[in-house]
Amino acid sequence: MKLYYDFHIHSCLSPCGDDDSTPNNIVNMALIKGLHAIAVADHNTGRNVPAVMAAGKRNGLIVLPAMELTTSEDIHILCLFEKYEQLEKLEQRLENTRLKIRNKREIFGKQQIMDENDEPIGEAEDLLIVSSGVSVEEAAKLVEELGGIPVPAHVDKQANGLIGVLGAFDFSLGFRLVESKEDPRLGLPYITNSDAHYLWDISEAEHFLEADTCSVHGVFQALKRMCAGGGAKEE
Ligand SMILES: [Zn+2]
Ligand SMILES: [Zn+2]
Repeated sequence: MKLYYDFHIHSCLSPCGDDDSTPNNIVNMALIKGLHAIAVADHNTGRNVPAVMAAGKRNGLIVLPAMELTTSEDIHILCLFEKYEQLEKLEQRLENTRLKIRNKREIFGKQQIMDENDEPIGEAEDLLIVSSGVSVEEAAKLVEELGGIPVPAHVDKQANGLIGVLGAFDFSLGFRLVESKEDPRLGLPYITNSDAHYLWDISEAEHFLEADTCSVHGVFQALKRMCAGGGAKEE
C-alpha cells in the first residue's frame, strides 16, 4: 500500500523549531496534510519522540522514532529507527560526547520537552544544535549497529549537507539512502522530506513508500528495502 510520509519534522524542542510545533499540533497537521507516516527529528535529541508517538497512536498516525544527528564535522544525518529504545541508546551516546554549551533562549529560542497532552515537562538546558563527538565516518556504523537507518540529510543543500561539507559524496562511509528534494544522481535511493521548522511547512501528501502493512514495522521494512536497492517513489 502507498503510505505518504514526511520523516524530517522539527518540534518545539529544536532551538530553531517553532513553539507551536507541539506533539499534538504536528500530528494533527500531518493528518490534515493527508500523511500516513511521520518522524519528528530534532537536533541531537529524541526527547519529544515519546509524546509524538503517543499522540500519533491516539490519532492513527504512524510515528517513527528519529533524530537529526550533527556529526563532529557539522554534517546533518537523519537517523530513523523502529523502536524508541534504539533512539534512546543513540541519545545516550551523544550525551557523553556533545559539546556542552548552555542554550541562550533569547537568541536560539526555547527547547521545550512536552508530554503527550502538549504540557511542558522540561527544557533542554544545553544547546542541542551543536556538533556531537560522532564523526561522519562513525555515524553510519553506529546508527546501523543500534538497528537504525542513517540518512545523510538534505544532501542537495550546501549548509550542513554531506556533499556541501566534504565536497563530494564518499560512498565508503556506508550510507545507502539519502535525503534530497530531487534525485541527487548518486545512484542511491532517496527520500524527500520537509525539514519543517513550522507547522505549515510539513509536507503535503506527495512522497510515498510502498509498504506491506500500515504500521511502524511496515514503514521501517519499506525503508530497509529501499536501502537494499529499491527506488524512491513520487507523484
Ligand atoms: Zn539539517
Ligand atoms: Zn532538520
